[in-house]
Amino acid sequence: MRYLSTRGHPDRRRFCDILLEGLAPDGGLYLPEAYPQVDAATLARWRGLPYAELAFEILSLYIDDIPPAELKAICAKTYTAEVFGSDEIVPLRELEDGVYLEALSNGPTLAFKDMAMQLLGNLFEYELGRRGEELNILGATSGDTGSAAEYAMRGKKGVRVFMTSPDGRMSPFQQAQMFSLQDVNIHNIAIAGVFDDCQDIVKAVSNDLGFKRKYKIGTVNSINWARLLAQVVYYFAGYFEATASNDRQVSFTVPSGNFGNVCAGHVARMMGLPIRTLVVATNENDVLDEFFRTGVYRVRAAADTHETSSPSMDISKASNFERFVFDLVGRDGARTRALFQDELGASGRFDLSADPVFAQAAARFGFASSRSTHADRLETIRDTDRRFATLIDTHTADGLKAAREHLAPGVPMIVLETALPIKFAETIVEALGHEPARPARFEGIEALPKRVVQLPADAEAVKAYIAQHCD
Ligand SMILES: *Cc1c(COP(=O)(O)O)cnc(C)c1O
Repeated sequence: MRYLSTRGHPDRRRFCDILLEGLAPDGGLYLPEAYPQVDAATLARWRGLPYAELAFEILSLYIDDIPPAELKAICAKTYTAEVFGSDEIVPLRELEDGVYLEALSNGPTLAFKDMAMQLLGNLFEYELGRRGEELNILGATSGDTGSAAEYAMRGKKGVRVFMTSPDGRMSPFQQAQMFSLQDVNIHNIAIAGVFDDCQDIVKAVSNDLGFKRKYKIGTVNSINWARLLAQVVYYFAGYFEATASNDRQVSFTVPSGNFGNVCAGHVARMMGLPIRTLVVATNENDVLDEFFRTGVYRVRAAADTHETSSPSMDISKASNFERFVFDLVGRDGARTRALFQDELGASGRFDLSADPVFAQAAARFGFASSRSTHADRLETIRDTDRRFATLIDTHTADGLKAAREHLAPGVPMIVLETALPIKFAETIVEALGHEPARPARFEGIEALPKRVVQLPADAEAVKAYIAQHCD
């Protein structure tokens, strides 16, 4: 298996080369040269496999530069009941006739990002060990990504994490989750500023190529192909749990922000998993819903990006969307480059509404979309609590509302549950008048000692901190 760039660069790379990298050299995103095809016999063989073995089977189709026995061991140590809370790893339950919730958020940080990040931590440790190299992960977070990265990398050999976050702006629960980690390779840096300041610092440090090379600076952002690949597995697992035989179709609804999660669903569908519809659910930040309704992709300015009660979906542009558009335009790298570099660069938008390929997004690739508002989330949380005695978080509520707008008779609809309600307790209190239950292991975490440094919103100060903590 070789990987190519969505912008037509001639190089072809192997999995472990792109594992530790971000963008391709031409600014594109990596994708496999072709999607491995899964036939009926393979689906039949996979049905009933434990999650870690299913993960190994799927990953093996994309990774040929890690010996199979070692890849199998990495999967086995990643997807355990101790880490994810149950032997099923992603248990499915029927909410109402034909509508299911697939639980992806029982990992260490109670959001679905653990599903991929836990694997990434083990892959990084393996590959860095094999190369005798080190990596310093620098990131910016307002919540889910940073904590998932820290819990995945804590205690890992060869890896340090330097995670910036806006001082005082995360929820007390999220702060406690991150700052209570005492591992020496995890560094929490609270920046006197907002999230955009943190992101600007990460960019400034990464653009200092001398510093970046000297201190082996890397990232774990959502464009990493390994993260996306890990997410493909739970589409297969959900399919097997919702159906009794492989002649059935299912649909998925995915609460979406950067388009990483639903892009994994697209990959599963391209491999031959019988998915009828992939519903992209957005909140008021409806860049993606607008595209799937109109064919216009219009990046939002910071001032037009809303702060909502499903904050992990508050995006101004969807960083993985280019992967899907590459497939949509017939894997034409020059065309993808023209759209994402030239048109987006010049005007912040591109318009495929008059192009025959736009109709293919629905007709050939199965995409649909819906948008919800804060009022919708409150109503869906209340309704789900009242009728099914089930508490869902705000992102999952966006998903459930969208799912009901795209049901087809006889086709199970699987809504991906992307976080547990405790992470967004304020909105649960607003909807229901009481706090959500807290898993026992998070009881009292706000009172634990905190390991965090405060720095000004200044890239030089962050560089100095990194340099000081790298020997
Ligand atoms: C990251 C996140 C999302 C959005 O996922 P993408 O892969 O960025 O589309 C949705 N819900 C929660 C809880 C998240 O943490």
